[in-house]
Amino acid sequence: MSTKPNSIASRDVAYCLHPYTNARAHEDKGPLIITHGKGVEVFDDRGKAYIEAMAGLWSTSLGFSEDRLAEVANKQMRELPFYHNFGHKASIPGIELSERILAMAPVPMSKVFFANSGSEANDTAVKLVWYYNNAIGLPKKKKIISRFKGYHGVTIASASMTGLPTNHGDFDLPIANFLHTSCPHYWRFGKDDESEEDFATRMAQDLEDMILAEGPDTIAAFIAEPVMGAGGVIVPPATYWDKIQTVLKKYDVLLIADEVICGFGRTGNAFGSETFGMMPDIISVAKALSSSYLPISAIMISDKLYQGIANNSAKNGVLGHGFTYSGHPVCAAVALETLKIYEERDLFAHAADVGGYLQAGLSQFKDHPLVGEVRGVGLIAAVELIRDKATKANFDPIGKVGSYLNDRATEEGLIIRNMGDSIAFCPPLIITRDEIDHILTRFSAALNKTLEWVKKEGLL
Ligand code: PMP
Repeated sequence: MSTKPNSIASRDVAYCLHPYTNARAHEDKGPLIITHGKGVEVFDDRGKAYIEAMAGLWSTSLGFSEDRLAEVANKQMRELPFYHNFGHKASIPGIELSERILAMAPVPMSKVFFANSGSEANDTAVKLVWYYNNAIGLPKKKKIISRFKGYHGVTIASASMTGLPTNHGDFDLPIANFLHTSCPHYWRFGKDDESEEDFATRMAQDLEDMILAEGPDTIAAFIAEPVMGAGGVIVPPATYWDKIQTVLKKYDVLLIADEVICGFGRTGNAFGSETFGMMPDIISVAKALSSSYLPISAIMISDKLYQGIANNSAKNGVLGHGFTYSGHPVCAAVALETLKIYEERDLFAHAADVGGYLQAGLSQFKDHPLVGEVRGVGLIAAVELIRDKATKANFDPIGKVGSYLNDRATEEGLIIRNMGDSIAFCPPLIITRDEIDHILTRFSAALNKTLEWVKKEGLL
């Protein structure tokens, strides 16, 4: 896209450093400027419409024009635009939101702690686990295990837990005491003669081997997304969570469920933990908590953790952790309204229903020459492109074809996201079957254009 005729675009290039963007390429390509949204669509500054099949960043679950959220924000702004939670202070939206989140929790949870982003929620989870283990007299038990291809954020601790090379290499991460175990992607990493169940057994064995090698008395927690998102939408193999949790229990390792994407309906249940039978000690949520209309995240902690933390803070005087905006009343009011809307419109059941339709629709691309695997659950899915269906060989470099397809989809009026050569779909929960049909038609056109190009370039 040329930046010349459009001064707002050239100002973007001149002044803004974009996250997750090739800065040098951006100087030529310029931005796609989105000016407004309606339902599941967003519109650029030239008026072109796009179906937002990624709900922004896996997050705008109510679509882009939910007036009730705007009204609630406006009302709360006028009443109490800011207050905080430090030193025994509270505001009403934060109290009501905590109560509501706890009532929805997939396992009994005791308290909610607010932050502003998924990264901060996960950093908070780690800090509270450390604080708790100090409180109960286990000061050596501090290491955190996550998984290759897991995504937990970009702050120093959360990026250390993230298991992707882009987030580590030149940032000198991960820091000490953050370890990564195997990625449970059966199609990619399962051996030829290995069943899904046997693969899950091997994944649990890898985890146990790591715990034993490090010393169980040094391992504090295991953090995982129920379904991996940014790592490529990886759905765990059958029996995975049972086997992993058996290992965690055996060595007294806490489970942190990172529900930043899965939380609030994405997998067709309120939480991914329900879909996969997880029994976490801590749950982090963000994104769909407020449909991303305002930044807010939270962790829920079990009573066991709360009791240890409360004892320690009584001893120390205070719990020395918190953000200026923890429990921000406007963000909390918008989140509370979001959760009410989910319930009133039965949107998690709707997600399960239209999610099945999306998965079935995408599975028609399984036989396409460029497609290796179609995977997903509920309203989250990915189509992985490969060079050779028989050997599962990737294109070289990974991401070149995915990014070409991404651009063709944008031209077709479809926003999806390539993570390397895995193409993600994660539309707003409010999407209809008709709108899913449009996604499928546009994706099909982009995929076929990509195939022509791949052939022309001799990449196959
Ligand atoms: N955890 C998961 C599972 C995520 O998908 C993300 C963001 N994509 C994060 C944590 C980090 O959230 P944030 O970008 O709000 O810091």
